[in-house]
Formats: sequence, structure tokens, C-alpha cells
Amino acid sequence: MKYPLTTNRQINIPYLLKIGNGKIAKIGRYMFDKDMLEIAVFWGEGMPNLIGKTFYAGLKEYKIKIAHEQEVSSIAIEDITKTAFSLPSTTKAIIGIGGGKALDFAKYAAYLLKLPYISVPTSTSNDGFCSPSSSLTVDGARKSIKSSIPYGVVVDLDIIGSSPTICLYSGVGDMFSKVSALWDWKQASQKGLEKYNDFAAMLSYNSLDLLYIRHSSDIKSPQFQRSLVNSLLYSGIAMEIAGTSRPASGSEHLISHALDKISAHPQMHGLQVGVASYLCALLQDNPSVSDLRDILKQVGFFDFVAQNPLNKQDFIKALKLAPQIKDNYYTVLSEGKSYKKAIKLIDKDEILQQLIKD
Ligand SMILES: [Zn+2]
Repeated sequence: MKYPLTTNRQINIPYLLKIGNGKIAKIGRYMFDKDMLEIAVFWGEGMPNLIGKTFYAGLKEYKIKIAHEQEVSSIAIEDITKTAFSLPSTTKAIIGIGGGKALDFAKYAAYLLKLPYISVPTSTSNDGFCSPSSSLTVDGARKSIKSSIPYGVVVDLDIIGSSPTICLYSGVGDMFSKVSALWDWKQASQKGLEKYNDFAAMLSYNSLDLLYIRHSSDIKSPQFQRSLVNSLLYSGIAMEIAGTSRPASGSEHLISHALDKISAHPQMHGLQVGVASYLCALLQDNPSVSDLRDILKQVGFFDFVAQNPLNKQDFIKALKLAPQIKDNYYTVLSEGKSYKKAIKLIDKDEILQQLIKD
């Protein structure tokens, strides 16, 4: 499968990009500079209590009007559609502030209304804060729905730094899952089953390099967090350029989606994909597997997951289900021998033994 020789597809990139300390207080100024004088705000639950005071003071200073605001609990597509189309027509931009749900809600509402969307993540537990899709519920089931990449991304490192350790490790796992995802994508394209985009792949590989050459392996250090945010952003843009989630999602994401269906208590997305990515990289004989092993060890990802390992029975069931999660989607798990090989690795690999347990 090939891309056409000329393409007139428009690729969006974030035009407003602010990463640093104390950024929540400055959102009013950013809105003013972009002429977004009336906005709708969708908050993660409990967020207004935590950071509302700082946020509102910044808006007041620049006379930014709030057309509508609410805390988000449901991400059912019909609720979002209803809310989006009842927003005042004077709304100039939509802001999402919080973790997954509020950002997905706001991103999809902005996509429906063709309004600029400003993403303000309060944790970086996955790449959703800058990806071109929203994870929503459709008829009760979680689905990834096409949306637009954010017009703006504002990351306040003071807030990210105080987010729970599990969120930081989840972000690390989601980031490094690119190792197995990129291999799957390349193989699928070599088999003529997927379009490949060299530039998107390069961007995604480079986003990993940013973390490999990090200044500190202390995930709580501001330098590491800045690199993690940058890496997740690049991978979001790689998806936008490729027009598919392939640069950031492959066999490891299939296993995680299967775990979400099977487990009574699924673990955080990035923890599941991080473990699955290491397993899939072994299955792939991926040339980067030793780098992946080293870095996940150094930053403490393996030790963290080992404190509360993934359930082995669920994991093995998920391995079986994973290749059927998406139709016509080649990954290393599509190979007949992968299932048995994976079970052997879970039993024999010293690291996997700690991460996936009965
Ligand atoms: Zn992910």
C-alpha cells in the first residue's frame, strides 16, 4: 500500500505550545493573545477546587469570558454531542483541563464545532493530551474516535510534578510502547498491508531518542518530565502526519485493549502497554529490545510494576484475544507461533516473571 505521489491532505500542528512552571496562571494571557475572548471549559472531576483559583485569576486579568464550564464525568458520545451543540455561538475556543476524560470530552466537542481546542493536561499518563483521536464510549463500549490534534497544548510542570507517581510511570510506559509499535507498522507495510510514512516514523523514533539521551533518569525531575512531555507531543504529531495511530500503537496496545475487556480490575493504560511492549519487542527480535530493557530498568518502571504485577491468567487470555481486537491489522501477534512463544517468555524471562504473576 502506498501514499499517493502528491497529497493535498492538511496536517495540523499545535500553534500554541507552552511547557513550563506556573503556566496555568498564564492561560488568560495566551487566550487574549490569540483573540479567544470567550471560551468553554471542561474540567476533570475535582480540578476546579485544586487549580480553579489560579486559572480564574488569569482569565479575569485579561477579561476572558467563560461561555460555559462543567466538570466531566461521562464521555458518552451522545452527551458530548448534546453539550457541544448547546454551547453559545459566541464561544471562540474550548479548553480541557484534567486527565483523560475531560481532555477527550473537550477535544471531541471542539472537533464537532470546528473550534480551536486547548489541551491542558494535569498528568501525562498517556499520549491522549496531544493525539488526533478521542477515547469515548459509544453504546457503552470504549472506542477511539477521530478528532483533531489540539490547537494549543499548555503543560504546567508544577502540576505534572505533583501528579501521582503511577501517572508518571504510565506516561513512561505509553511512550516506550513506540518501540514495538514502530516495528509492527514497518512489518505490516513490508507485507503490503499498511501505508508507511517515513517522516512520521522518523519523528516517532526521534521522540524516543529524546528520552534515551535524557539528562536524568529520575522521573520526578523537571528535566525528565519536560522530555517526556516533548516525546509524547511528537508522537501525537507523528500520528497526525501518518493519518493513523500506527506510529504509537501496535501489538502492545492490542494486548492492553484486550486486558481492559477481560480484567476485573485493569491497570493503568501506560503500565499495561509498557509491559506488553517489552514482551512484544522480545517476540519481534526487535533490535531495540536491549535499549528498551535498560531504560525501563533505569527509570524504575519494572520495579514499580513489580510491586503490583499484572494478573497472569488475565494476561494469557488477553494474548489470545489481542489479534482479534482490530480487523485486518497486522502485528507480531498475527504470527501463529507468537502465542506459544509469548507464554514461554512470560515463564522464563526474569523480568517478565516479576511483572506478570499469578
Ligand atoms: Zn497508548
